[in-house]
Amino acid sequence: MFGVKEFAQVLEGVARRYGITVHLQSEATAVDADRRTVTVVDHGNEDAETTLDYDVMHMVPPQSAPDWVKKTSLADPASPAGYVEIDKHTTQHTRNPNVFALGDAGSSPNSKTGAAIRKQAPVGVTNPLDVMAGRPPSASYGGYASCPLTTSRHSMLLAEFDYSMTPTPTIPVIDTLKERKDMWYLKRYGLPTMYWQAMLRGLA
Ligand SMILES: Cc1cc2nc3c(=O)[nH]c(=O)nc-3n(C[C@H](O)[C@H](O)[C@H](O)COP(=O)(O)OP(=O)(O)OC[C@H]3O[C@@H](n4cnc5c(N)ncnc54)[C@H](O)[C@@H]3O)c2cc1C
Repeated sequence: MFGVKEFAQVLEGVARRYGITVHLQSEATAVDADRRTVTVVDHGNEDAETTLDYDVMHMVPPQSAPDWVKKTSLADPASPAGYVEIDKHTTQHTRNPNVFALGDAGSSPNSKTGAAIRKQAPVGVTNPLDVMAGRPPSASYGGYASCPLTTSRHSMLLAEFDYSMTPTPTIPVIDTLKERKDMWYLKRYGLPTMYWQAMLRGLA
């Protein structure tokens, strides 16, 4: 359910608590809006097809770069997602050393989050300056991402991790391997303030 085992285990418990049946390795292939059914193919079980009823549907398309990025020579030709092909540590383009990219359109295999961009941004500033000065890129991004997973109106699981796919909590004394009320308050009140007042001003 989630790429990091420790957080996946917590989320499996959350799904059980709510009585949610989770279909992993599955793909929605057709929707019948009149009958309110969705066809789901289970790639983990020889593409077995199931039809599920729904009252409300929330569909999320596969993640990819915008079409116009996909069409350029900057995109990774080997990837259908068409992300800008960069080194995952330096954010430098693999074929055009004077190009750098970060954020959701970059090919670095981190979870696409604003939290990741917060860590990529200083790298994406330092390294172009290095290259312009004739030096090799000196700054490195370690794949940090943070996913605030709201599990109820009063609890949240803050999943922080990096390329090693192990938990990397910013404040190690807080046990973020369980749902927490204080993390819910962090998301509701703390993170917007951090975003608008600090991140967008280059202060955090
Ligand atoms: C529902 C949802 C919840 C999320 N929650 C969190 C969260 O809690 N924490 C977290 O860290 N991250 C979260 N994220 C992820 C975070 O929002 C993204 O990772 C981040 O916004 C990506 O930033 P970006 O600048 O790379 O891309 P974007 O924010 O997508 O910015 C790209 C910009 O380029 C513009 N653009 C596109 N094409 C053109 C063009 N041809 N010409 C001019 N402009 C163009 C777009 O309009 C857009 O404004 C969430 C994302 C979603 C969708």
